[in-house]
Amino acid sequence: MAVPKRRTSKARKAKRRTHFKLSIPGLNACPNCGELKKSHHVCASCGQYDGEVIIEKQS
Ligand SMILES: [Zn+2]
Repeated sequence: MAVPKRRTSKARKAKRRTHFKLSIPGLNACPNCGELKKSHHVCASCGQYDGEVIIEKQS
């Protein structure tokens, strides 16, 4: 098995990881309440998905 000759320094590792999570996950406006929600996920604020109430909100 190939093995690294040199240990990756903290600085090099940090520089490589500057590209991690540069973009936020896809967020869309909920068609029911207009809140931002993750696409293909139940809305966190109104509990609806595809026009159906999935999670009942008590308020
Ligand atoms: Zn909603």
